[in-house]
Amino acid sequence: MRPASATIDLDAFRHNLARVRALAPRSRIVAVVKANGYGHGAARLVPAMAAAEMLGVACLEEALALRDAGAQQPILLMEGTFEPAELATCAAEGLEIAVHHAEQVRMLEVARLPRPLVVWLKIDTGMHRLGVAPPEARALHARLSACRSVAGVRLMTHFASADLPDPQSTEAQLACFAALDLPGERSLANSAGVLAWPQAHADWVRPGIMLYGVSPLPGTSGAAHGLRPVMTLATRLIALRDIPAGEAVGYAGAWTAPRPTRVGTAAIGYGDGYPRHAPSGTPVLVDGHEVPLIGRVSMDMITVDLTDRPEAKLGDPVILWGDGLPAERIAAAAGTIAYELLCGVTGRVHTRVVGA
Ligand SMILES: *Cc1c(COP(=O)(O)O)cnc(C)c1O
Repeated sequence: MRPASATIDLDAFRHNLARVRALAPRSRIVAVVKANGYGHGAARLVPAMAAAEMLGVACLEEALALRDAGAQQPILLMEGTFEPAELATCAAEGLEIAVHHAEQVRMLEVARLPRPLVVWLKIDTGMHRLGVAPPEARALHARLSACRSVAGVRLMTHFASADLPDPQSTEAQLACFAALDLPGERSLANSAGVLAWPQAHADWVRPGIMLYGVSPLPGTSGAAHGLRPVMTLATRLIALRDIPAGEAVGYAGAWTAPRPTRVGTAAIGYGDGYPRHAPSGTPVLVDGHEVPLIGRVSMDMITVDLTDRPEAKLGDPVILWGDGLPAERIAAAAGTIAYELLCGVTGRVHTRVVGA
């Protein structure tokens, strides 16, 4: 069996959820598990989600997959429904929906549902991606409140820059949301909001990335916030060779040995979700010791410089991110964010669940 594997630690997920609880003790938690649980496999995380009062996903398909896997709590479709036919299923399955557009209000008004839905009126307080403009909110809130398909109206908004050191835009979003003189439970905070904006915790927090042990705040890793990585992406060394100075390694000879070099080859590549743009120097853990990636990332393999680790041998465990090597560091090296790395792990990587 090819050794590329992702270990998913359910105890780490439970620990991170408890950490959110400690940080936002007066709020209930919508655990955000969209995009297949940020690439961890939403279904396999279900037993670890039990302490969350609600789950948050991007669409009906993701919610139904969670129900199939045994998730019992209400599930929030954070972009609402995409077509009217989905509303009846939402009602039958105990789903709650965001309403971010007048057209979705109209769909509810003409729907005949087996039972009414809790809806979250999503307000565009400044991100300008999704949500109704604040001046329209009052009229839409009134229509929803009067609609027989609606069991209750809550309010939500989403931050554009809660992770950035400059507080201005988040302060403006907070003020805009606070100025809405409308009844209903409220939710604003993503992970960055949970960590950096306690005044935004409100009735419900909506953490995503921090549940997976990753920090949303630039320049910090999850451990600094008391979080534990849920995914560890690992493989093994499958080849070793010694090359003289001046020899080039891998596709396009993109890296040339400045000294006689021991090259290790590990069975992981962009076909597994390791970022192709990770440059030479990106840290890799071989048998617990950091060594630099060298040369281009291939589809199935990477090469590392083992010259300073003469003990390294065939079959040694290699960690790409997770336990002992935060995904945040790999993301920074590769010019991306850890969210993208976690979501990008592909189906051919074997998965092992621990802490069940
Ligand atoms: C993805 C998402 C979240 C979670 O964001 P994180 O940065 O992962 O914590 C919260 N709310 C909404 C609406 C989202 O789309």
